[in-house]
Amino acid sequence: MIVQFESIFFRQAHSRSLNSFFAAVYTSHKRPLTTMANSVEGVKGLLIDISGVLKNGDIVIDGSVEAIKKLRQANFPFRLVTNETLKPRKTILETLAMMSYDFTANELFSPVPCCVDVLKKENLRPHLLVHPRMVPEFDGVDTKDPNCVVVADAYDHFTFENLNNCFRKLLDMDKPILISLGIGKYYMDDDGLALDVGGFTKCLEYATGVAPRIIGKPSSEYFMMAASDMKLNPNEVMMVGDDVLHDVGGAQAAGMKGALVRTGKYKKSDENHPTVKPDIVVDNLAQVVGYLLNP
Ligand SMILES: [Mg+2]
Repeated sequence: MIVQFESIFFRQAHSRSLNSFFAAVYTSHKRPLTTMANSVEGVKGLLIDISGVLKNGDIVIDGSVEAIKKLRQANFPFRLVTNETLKPRKTILETLAMMSYDFTANELFSPVPCCVDVLKKENLRPHLLVHPRMVPEFDGVDTKDPNCVVVADAYDHFTFENLNNCFRKLLDMDKPILISLGIGKYYMDDDGLALDVGGFTKCLEYATGVAPRIIGKPSSEYFMMAASDMKLNPNEVMMVGDDVLHDVGGAQAAGMKGALVRTGKYKKSDENHPTVKPDIVVDNLAQVVGYLLNP
């Protein structure tokens, strides 16, 4: 019964604006204005999650397009930071453009291009377990005689055969390296929650004893790459996301501030998370941008 309710709830919520829904439900939990403004003091740049902050599936989140325009008009630095590994960067940007967002490739941090940089810099030759449509993104990377395994969200290509190939490759390596593009447990897909890359990476870790190096949220390395791209120190940066653990907790572990939005996959219980305390909880991106630009 609970499962059925949740399924119906997610589908219904997904098909309309979650933003207005949650705003109405949780208005009573807003903090005083002064506390909000103080929480963003010293922030000179934003890292912004895409899914759950800019959009839910194919639906734009109310106020986010305008919020991005305001950041641009104010020359306030920002980067999009996503764990999306099922779509090439070009497709992500085209999807956002159809929703009236106008981002450039340089403003988008996604794990695959960052991983390609790391592989080239460190002379790593990957055995890839990624979705077939993402293989061209690794053009120019030497994949002969692999000395590492790279796992991204491969969706229905997470077969026994593909996972077992990764397992065997890792066992064959003198110094096995397992790179995971993100370590998420699940995400909201068009037809409900879906298993993310994390469980499959953990399967390989369990079988081989090789701890994964994570490129993507919540790894500090990934957050730092985005911050240094804005030429800002971590303590000058705030991450805005709907994942209390990986967006907010990950950024805070890297020395940044973390803002939790009440949109996307936000749950009320996230505000009382046992290990992560957001620096600020806001109704949506528009609200935190308002506090930043009009303190
Ligand atoms: Mg998100």
